[in-house]
Amino acid sequence: MTTKLGTADRPLRAAIVGAGPSGFYAAAALLKEQDFTVTVDVFERLIAPYGLVRYGVAPDHQNIKAVAKTYDRTTAEAGFRYFGNVEFGKDITHADLRRHYDVIFYTTGAQSDRRLNIPGEDLPNSMSATEFVAWYNGHPDYRDLEVDLSCEAAVVVGVGNVAMDVARILAKSVEELKSTDIADHALEALAGSNIKDIYVVARRGPAQVKFTNAEIREFGHLAIADAIVLDSELKLDRASSASIEGDTGMQKNLDYLRAYAEIGTTGKPRRVHFRFLVSPVEICEENGKIVAVKLEKNELRPSVSGDIKSTGTGKFETIPAGLVLRSVGYRGIPLPDVPFDKRAGVIPNEVGRIIDLDTGKTLTGEYVAGWIKRGPTGVIGTNKPDAIESVNSMFEDLSKGKLALAIDPDPDAIVRLLHERNVRYVTKDEWKVIDGVEAGAGKAQGKPRVKLIERDAMLAVLDVVAK
Ligand code: NAP
Repeated sequence: MTTKLGTADRPLRAAIVGAGPSGFYAAAALLKEQDFTVTVDVFERLIAPYGLVRYGVAPDHQNIKAVAKTYDRTTAEAGFRYFGNVEFGKDITHADLRRHYDVIFYTTGAQSDRRLNIPGEDLPNSMSATEFVAWYNGHPDYRDLEVDLSCEAAVVVGVGNVAMDVARILAKSVEELKSTDIADHALEALAGSNIKDIYVVARRGPAQVKFTNAEIREFGHLAIADAIVLDSELKLDRASSASIEGDTGMQKNLDYLRAYAEIGTTGKPRRVHFRFLVSPVEICEENGKIVAVKLEKNELRPSVSGDIKSTGTGKFETIPAGLVLRSVGYRGIPLPDVPFDKRAGVIPNEVGRIIDLDTGKTLTGEYVAGWIKRGPTGVIGTNKPDAIESVNSMFEDLSKGKLALAIDPDPDAIVRLLHERNVRYVTKDEWKVIDGVEAGAGKAQGKPRVKLIERDAMLAVLDVVAK
């Protein structure tokens, strides 16, 4: 019976939950397969597709955002359908997808963030970089995030590329940002920013940073901000020196940091201070407002596992600041009726095949790809081989007759179901209309696009066009 699956008479019906990069890479790999006929339906909670490419990648990194053009080519394929504005677990359930699809891929990314678990973390104006990024990128859920930029200093915790993004956005002038697709509300707030000092704090040393060369290099070219590094914090202990031997990327990072230490301040009105071997232990407040961040100085110790870890020295310093952005990593969140490894924040899997935690066995026809499969690491492109790996696992299962046929594979059945439930889903053609309106508004203002933010605003555009 299963041998017929994946033929022109009975195409393999795949559902993908999540229209971010890994969802699109999975869709492309499914549709590209020559030996089997596959149709793909992508379900996305938001109206707009592209996930982190639209709502995560920094607005001043348009070269990275250009990857969306590749996703558009997938969207244009005949076997591809898009169901935007459809929430898994609410508008459609796991049971619905099981009924109507032969295979399901979960590609929902890592939508939450890790916490510091220190006093003061929940004060107003202490937030995750994830939220701040979503706010300036015009994510509908974060339109009303309260970001107070009236203070003079901000602390960014962590030294990954997300920390670089948020520090850079705080450090840039309106002139540098206004020709990007940054959300209008964020540009307006940043235009009124009073922030002059941005402290990027690393719990470990300069040989353990997570940012990459291009990102640290940018701090040497900001119009109104200097990069400040303390020479005293760049000295490497023996274990750190040994750990980066032959690592040209890390050596280059150090070269940039050393150059910044040498140049020092050139008198620009803003400063981005890179601080090492310090951990926030408390966010201090007065009358409910953040006034400072208390840091403990650390030292490095090689651990038995070979990692170089930081430990507190019991010595402290305090940095006056009114905004705290913790940028210590994203975290996956569970999906209803889908196995979840709470400790790792991922869907448990073996080469993309989802594992039932109760039985330890893989679930028939259910797969995962991207950050929700492996954790929040790597750049956008890392998700391509990751998604291909999961898709290949599925094709292997299909070839071996290990898949179960969907009970109701009629492509119209899911459409009927969504109509019955009054779900206003957005198709790929409708998304093209919204995309065109955004791009057109951008062209008029010399920007790549002007994003429509609220769901209602996007749907209103469709209503106008439909009339
Ligand atoms: P990341 O690269 O994992 O960096 C997380 C940072 O948080 C590290 O410096 C880490 O330090 C620190 N950290 C973790 N727990 C901490 C704690 N309790 N206290 C203090 N510091 C703590 O994560 P990310 O910046 O969120 O980036 C996620 C992924 O997206 C990365 O692969 C990144 O390269 C990618 N990304 C790429 C771009 C780009 O290509 N331009 C832009 C944005 C993001 P330790 O090392 O000490 O743990």
